[in-house]
Amino acid sequence: MSVSPQAPEIENDSMEDRLYTVKYEDPGDSHLDVKVASICADSCETADCVSICPADVWRREDGEGVPTIAYENCLECSSCRFACPYDNVSWEYPKTGAGVTYKRG
Ligand code: SF4
Ligand code: SF4
Repeated sequence: MSVSPQAPEIENDSMEDRLYTVKYEDPGDSHLDVKVASICADSCETADCVSICPADVWRREDGEGVPTIAYENCLECSSCRFACPYDNVSWEYPKTGAGVTYKRG
């Protein structure tokens, strides 16, 4: 009797479940900002900071204007600073001891 190989059952957590495992200590002040607000409001049509952020930190009301920044959710991946076509993201690590801690390395 032959036995067919079976695919192993792999449990894939949803993105929300994975984000839930990230611990964050609020530094109190935002470590993210825009350098020149008028560039966001008047020149930027793509808002790449919004579309690239995996944690939904950057948001733009009605797809225009200066984004709001929910810095408390930031994963410190740095994507937004390189995605902005105007080099208009001010980015630094949160103050020492604050920021994200990853449970699974
Ligand atoms: S991509 Fe850059 S210029 Fe555009 S909204 Fe975001 S921070 Fe502003
Ligand atoms: S560093 Fe990453 S997680 Fe934090 S705001 Fe930028 S894109 Fe989002």
